[in-house]
Amino acid sequence: MNLSLLASSVAESPTLKLNALAKSMQAQGIPVIHLGGGEPKNKAPRAAVDAAAAYLNAGDVKYTPSAGTPSLRKAVAEYTEKNYGRKAAVENIIISAGTKQALYNLLFTLLNPGDEVIVPAPYWVSYPEMIRMVGGVPVIVRSSAETHIPGARDLLGAVTGRTKAILLNSPNNPSGALYPADLVEEIVRYCERKDIWLLVDDIYHKLVFDGKTAPNPCAYTDRGVEESRVIILNAVSKIYGMTGFRIGWAVAPKPLVSIMNNIQAATTSCNSGVLMAAAEGALKGSQEGVGELVSLLESNRNAMLNALAEIPGVRVVKPQGTFYCLPDFSSYRKDSPALCNFLLEKAFVVTVPGREFGAENHLRLSYCGALPDVVEGVARIRWALDPASPKEIRIGEKTAVRDW
Ligand code: PMP
Repeated sequence: MNLSLLASSVAESPTLKLNALAKSMQAQGIPVIHLGGGEPKNKAPRAAVDAAAAYLNAGDVKYTPSAGTPSLRKAVAEYTEKNYGRKAAVENIIISAGTKQALYNLLFTLLNPGDEVIVPAPYWVSYPEMIRMVGGVPVIVRSSAETHIPGARDLLGAVTGRTKAILLNSPNNPSGALYPADLVEEIVRYCERKDIWLLVDDIYHKLVFDGKTAPNPCAYTDRGVEESRVIILNAVSKIYGMTGFRIGWAVAPKPLVSIMNNIQAATTSCNSGVLMAAAEGALKGSQEGVGELVSLLESNRNAMLNALAEIPGVRVVKPQGTFYCLPDFSSYRKDSPALCNFLLEKAFVVTVPGREFGAENHLRLSYCGALPDVVEGVARIRWALDPASPKEIRIGEKTAVRDW
């Protein structure tokens, strides 16, 4: 078959593949614990479900405006002003099928072949793939192993004449690191000065622990949305636990939104009105669930850190947000895909190899699941790795024997 070289080069999503594998193992009755997940387990907010139900009950489910319904775009503009102090018109907002589509359309809009996008590692697995899909070149910058936070000098030192954008995600998937305000400020000021786009994937911005808040990038620029190089991407996916609703957005200058809209119209026509109604319900309804989710994730994080502390030789940077952490398992095995397979086979625990996130020697572990699973999942990892562990343990109905 003579297929597109570019399309054929796009890698399978390792996280979605692991989700499918965990589901199929569970369906076969294998007592799998899924520490690879990327979504909180809470139910969607009542206001979101009610709004979607009302929309459906009206029975009038048709095409919608491709950039999103004016009322959801307005709700996002209000969210942006409230959370970022940035005034945005409806025409500055585009609604997409999750942050993923918004980011893809944005990269498509910004990049010419060969244009570079600077991405600090560890990074969300989809970034390099998306950048390459639109002809761009991801330029990966290593972070400090002690903090998983990039140095401003390293990041800005990677800028060349081909640099079109810098892509930031803090709190960060996969490390849970929260980039400090002075770093964010320095990058914002640099990008504004040098006219380099700063794409801020803020999908976890409210999932921050220990009473902290994520620094607001818009606080470090005097420019309004039309002149600023700072583009905010966000979604209802994580903070409301609405991953399956597939609604996200970008807040950008009008000429960009207009091109993104053309791309969206040409490829997917529009978003579902049902799901947009739900997202609007979430944004306008009670916000109590967000605080509850943060407390739950914070106690899960603490439980995971305590459990990890029991595994000799494993080092982990304390996550300050999200629902992931990125422990260093190099004292056991440096090859993270091999370690991930070993843990799945021997202990029935799903983890994600750090290599996928530009962090070899590490595994990404999620603590978005139920607390007992978080604790047992890490205990099983310890059993499989620590030679001082008992020879046998009970896993579900069966006895697992250490024969390695
Ligand atoms: N950005 C980051 C950093 C993510 O972790 C994810 C989901 N795992 C996304 C974007 C995609 O978000 P959505 O589901 O809204 O498309």
